Amino acid sequence: MRKNLRRPADIWCPYCGRKAVLRNASYVYGERCIRPDKHLYVCSGYPKHCDAYVGVHEHNLMPLGTMADGELRHLRIEAHYALNTVWKRGYMTKKGVYAWLANKMNLREKDMHIGHFSYYCCEESIRICRELIAERDKKGGDRRRQTGSRERYYAAAGVG
Ligand SMILES: [Zn+2]
Repeated sequence: MRKNLRRPADIWCPYCGRKAVLRNASYVYGERCIRPDKHLYVCSGYPKHCDAYVGVHEHNLMPLGTMADGELRHLRIEAHYALNTVWKRGYMTKKGVYAWLANKMNLREKDMHIGHFSYYCCEESIRICRELIAERDKKGGDRRRQTGSRERYYAAAGVG
């Protein structure tokens, strides 16, 4: 098979309709850029008219998700954080959190990509995860630590 994937895709900004341009990450992050070799699809209206961009899979330059403005980027970070907190505290396995959340939000598991989430899906997943965390924190105590270690054991063993 011919490997000819490294070419920019045609991507249009969902906010303003301008075409997105493949750029080095330093174009957006400037001196703060820790990975200047990374790429982003950046709205051609950036930064004057529009704030939207998205990261790429470096091996094929396909976007990691849909383009997002500052608010949506922030919400996606929050959603990742809330979701990760659930499995990192041992309340579920990582795979389990995705399945559980997909079910709660009526999404197919294959659509559980936060990089594709809308504002609404981000807010819902943050709310649902925080609810579970608050509920489990309330129960708290030794029981939680025991459950946590058991779930971590299963996760490490690849069970469940
Ligand atoms: Zn735009």
